[in-house]
Amino acid sequence: MLPSDKALVPFLSVDHMMQLVHRLGLDTVLTGLAAAIEEDFRRWNRFDKTARVAAHSPVGVIELMPAADEAHYAFKYVNGHPGNTRDGLQTVTAFGVLADMATGYPLLLSEMTLLTALRTAAMSAVATRHLAPAGAHVLAMIGNGAQSEFQCRALQALCGITHVRLYDTDAAATAKCAANLAQSGLVISTHGTPEAAIEGAQILTTCTADKRQARVLTDNMVGSGVHINAIGGDCPGKTELAEGLLHRADIFVEYPPQTRVEGEIQQLAADHPVTELWQVIAGTAPGRRDDRQITLFDGVGFAIEDFSALRYVHDQVRATGLGQKLDLLADPDDPRDLYGMLLRAAPNPA
Ligand code: NAD
Repeated sequence: MLPSDKALVPFLSVDHMMQLVHRLGLDTVLTGLAAAIEEDFRRWNRFDKTARVAAHSPVGVIELMPAADEAHYAFKYVNGHPGNTRDGLQTVTAFGVLADMATGYPLLLSEMTLLTALRTAAMSAVATRHLAPAGAHVLAMIGNGAQSEFQCRALQALCGITHVRLYDTDAAATAKCAANLAQSGLVISTHGTPEAAIEGAQILTTCTADKRQARVLTDNMVGSGVHINAIGGDCPGKTELAEGLLHRADIFVEYPPQTRVEGEIQQLAADHPVTELWQVIAGTAPGRRDDRQITLFDGVGFAIEDFSALRYVHDQVRATGLGQKLDLLADPDDPRDLYGMLLRAAPNPA
């Protein structure tokens, strides 16, 4: 028996996600994702929010990230395994579901490895747009792995970045990133130390992967009047910035109960003052106050960003018809006759 259309769940594969980005254009997708995130951050109090549920091992973490509003529920499955690249595997992979609150039925099952890179980049751009000094156009990109080009392109599309200064402990990662951005219109330079990379940059983004308390940026490296996106420190015991630098910065976070455990601020006292970024976006808290201030977006990645991303992609799937239909949900003619459906599916005796 074939399932009816109401039981078939749209599925967006990695290949379809790539087709979607090429059909719409990367800038359009990044701009659309940023708009969806801002829209959802502005209605923050309407969401059912949960710090993500994590299973840790010595080499990495697997997490579930749920969020819901009145109409939709979403979750993402995501891992973070910094050693994976040694075996030819991604550090971060993900997939997720958007579901209908009214019936509980899934509306979309999607790859989210690419979508996480896109939404994380869009999120950095949203934070940068609200916090960076006026006229900022030079980005230092520290950590040139899978996320890095997306970060650069989002800041180009949404924040007017023209120059990118690259640094990674692995020169091959920097060469890959520079080659990938060669046709982007950005002026790219590569550097052998983090100190050289951040020289003259008004925006510093760290997006490194190392499961330890790293000191990618130390206090004496960073002058006043810059904005920092610290993206790679997103787990207990996994940070990127020296504590002294945190004390000089005004710190902006997504969801404090999660960031206090996972973000750079895990190094600080539990009551260290932070501003929730949604309040800046909603206009109820100030962002940057003056040119000398160091602003820090301590980004760990929060479930509402994935909710926004899935909501955006669901709209695009409906508009473009991309994706395939999965026979994921049982669909007996009589909803209470699940067993009868199984019986009737028995193969005929030969
Ligand atoms: P990746 O493994 O592809 O790249 C990480 C890069 O960091 C590598 O090229 C590595 O050589 C480099 N690196 C490690 N230590 C460094 C150091 N001290 N200085 C400079 N470079 C260094 O990983 P990815 O997929 O690009 O992810 C990067 C980080 O971002 C990971 O830690 C991941 O968990 C995190 N992440 C955060 C979010 C979020 O929402 N905040 C989302 C996705 C990924």
